[in-house]
Amino acid sequence: MSRLALHGGPRVRADKRWARWPQYDTATEQEVVAALRSGRWAISWPSDGTTARERRFAEDWARYNDVPHCVSVDHGSSALLVALEALDIGPGDEVIVPTMTWVAPVTAVLRVGALPVLADVDPVTGCVTPETIAACRSGRTKAIIVVHLGATVADLDGILAVAGDVPVVEDCAQAHGARWRGRNVGTYGALGVFSFQNGKVLAAGEGGAVITSDPVLYRRAQQLRADSRRYPDHPVPEGTMELVEDGEVMGANYCMSELSAAVLLDQLPRLDTQHLHREKIAGELERGLAELGGFGPIPVPEEVDRRSIYEYGISYAEDAFGGAPAEKVAEAITAELGFAVYPPDPPLNDSVMLRPFTKRRFAQIWSEEGQRRAIGREFPGAERFRRSALLFHHGVLLGDSADAADIVAAVAKVRDHAHEL
Ligand SMILES: *Cc1c(COP(=O)(O)O)cnc(C)c1O
Repeated sequence: MSRLALHGGPRVRADKRWARWPQYDTATEQEVVAALRSGRWAISWPSDGTTARERRFAEDWARYNDVPHCVSVDHGSSALLVALEALDIGPGDEVIVPTMTWVAPVTAVLRVGALPVLADVDPVTGCVTPETIAACRSGRTKAIIVVHLGATVADLDGILAVAGDVPVVEDCAQAHGARWRGRNVGTYGALGVFSFQNGKVLAAGEGGAVITSDPVLYRRAQQLRADSRRYPDHPVPEGTMELVEDGEVMGANYCMSELSAAVLLDQLPRLDTQHLHREKIAGELERGLAELGGFGPIPVPEEVDRRSIYEYGISYAEDAFGGAPAEKVAEAITAELGFAVYPPDPPLNDSVMLRPFTKRRFAQIWSEEGQRRAIGREFPGAERFRRSALLFHHGVLLGDSADAADIVAAVAKVRDHAHEL
């Protein structure tokens, strides 16, 4: 058998290209050019008599999730901030957040002046569980942020049960359109938040949204993201501003640009077709992995009727690569395939991205006592997850069946050569 590409051998995948992400065409270009030519690039600009694109997108995104309300924002990070502010979380409060995820949920908690308390995760799925959340609860817990990680969904029923009266914010930045018992994720918590960053399955470069069924939270969220302004209760005459100054709660500017909204209006109708496509290729990949033995997908609870694949995760048995370090295994598979395969990021309790002491406002919260409450526990689940999963970006799954076969071949080749790593 040929040598590893990592050591100069021939690659499993020599020349054929992988599917491209993001996907766009002339229809996308037309939407963006139309927004450009309208001269209305922001919600804060006199109306031309048509509904602003950001509002049209928010209505479409609410409809897609079958929820009454959506507020668009400029980033997923802002969506988290607006959600926490809508719930009136602030100094003295604690918010439980997963340790295994992007840093944004933790930063959002610090930005509202509250203490993020990091919860361990399930060693196989990387998501928080009812048990790991229960272990972090205190009298100060005022909200719980749940992240549906990668291509799976956290145990929503169990988590809502342990949450009781404490509001849950679902961070769905990696789970657009995933379904739990017939309903989209993001509709189970008090609020659901999304990111439309370049890499997400619904992308506009930068962007985000908050969804909710609660009219009071919706009214607050509107003002929180638009300098205390909201949509009026009457139609907006041409030439006037679409937002009215209300000031029930003081906001800041986290508005989505009209140019980003134009991209999203083009991208959203493509989402379900892309979900189906990824699912088909993932199915082929999973049949191939099953034949290898010792490999499989990151499991999805049986309540999930539809996965949303953001980062596909290959779960492997601890001895599958003969104990070789996960980073080395990932590097070897990457070399065979020509796209990035990587182990999960370090958990936030052990990440350079979580350095609250570098900012005066955050340092105040990150006192000795704060740190003890935030990270003063063991995180064995996160550590095991890091050593049992290999991830790659969903764009790869928008190709064809030969792609799935190549991925399986690369995993098999690196497994067979693992003693050389
Ligand atoms: C991407 C991501 C975010 C942040 O979104 P931005 O739009 O980049 O601010 C938040 N949470 C999770 C889980 C993410 O993956």
